Amino acid sequence: MRVVSLVTHHSSRITACPELVEGACQPPEFPKSQTLVIVNRVYFHFPDIKKGSGWAKEVALDSASPKIKLVELIETLRDLVFPPVCANCRKVGKQICSECHQQIQWVKKPICSRCGRLVVSDQIVVCDACMKRPLPLKQIRAATVFTEPISTIIHKMKYEGAFGLGSVLAELMVSAWNEWEVSVDMVAPIPLHPDREKKRGYNQSALLARWFSQQLRLVYVPDLLKRTRFTIPQVGLNAEERAKNVQDAFAVDDYQLNGKHVLLVDDVCTTGSTLAAAAQVLLETGAAAVSGYCLARAM
Ligand SMILES: [Zn+2]
Ligand SMILES: [Zn+2]
Repeated sequence: MRVVSLVTHHSSRITACPELVEGACQPPEFPKSQTLVIVNRVYFHFPDIKKGSGWAKEVALDSASPKIKLVELIETLRDLVFPPVCANCRKVGKQICSECHQQIQWVKKPICSRCGRLVVSDQIVVCDACMKRPLPLKQIRAATVFTEPISTIIHKMKYEGAFGLGSVLAELMVSAWNEWEVSVDMVAPIPLHPDREKKRGYNQSALLARWFSQQLRLVYVPDLLKRTRFTIPQVGLNAEERAKNVQDAFAVDDYQLNGKHVLLVDDVCTTGSTLAAAAQVLLETGAAAVSGYCLARAM
């Protein structure tokens, strides 16, 4: 028997059962070769999850779980009929499979206390780049290192329309937040230019920021910042060119910031110049401090 996933009573997400050790969540008797999916203690089992046929041969409902949410059930059944595939390796089952999840490189100390780049020793408080050109941000932190598999998965979310990855990737930011947690008053995404957002259909930073704020019950202000002009992508530009490219590219949308600490969320941070340009305008508009939190940090 293979236990695939469990939907908790209080969430619409499919997550691995925290206490799940294969065989520990004992449902009714199923042959070993079959796949078991537990949804709010409704047990479904399938001959072979990869074949896509013979679904829902048997459904057993545990009477101890009265709170079965229809939405969760529909979402789960949808995933069973159209099973998610791993955004990196295409394996069927999860949007990020456990093998790829294990390969994710989390940002670990020692890091620069300002920009969050990895440094060689914990004796180094501030890195060379921050010594030469201090950022206006209180600090930048990131959940992961921008390398495989996370770089491929972010590419899928940004450029291949896989906006459904937003919540899965934001969950990585939520789980790493314990390490970096700072007290902030509100969370805002780095905005895209309206033309680019219209073309893409969504702002990937807003997907991350919204889910992250919801999970941590932080105040989320989606329209705090707006882009005032179109900027070319930062990829391929050096630090100086990046800073120039985003200079005066942001404005605060009619919002009182009196002494607030704003957390800006972005998908990827390289030199920090985008976050710095956005932070600058927030500070000029009355924010007491601005920090940045990214899904991935190019080191
Ligand atoms: Zn994978
Ligand atoms: Zn630094």
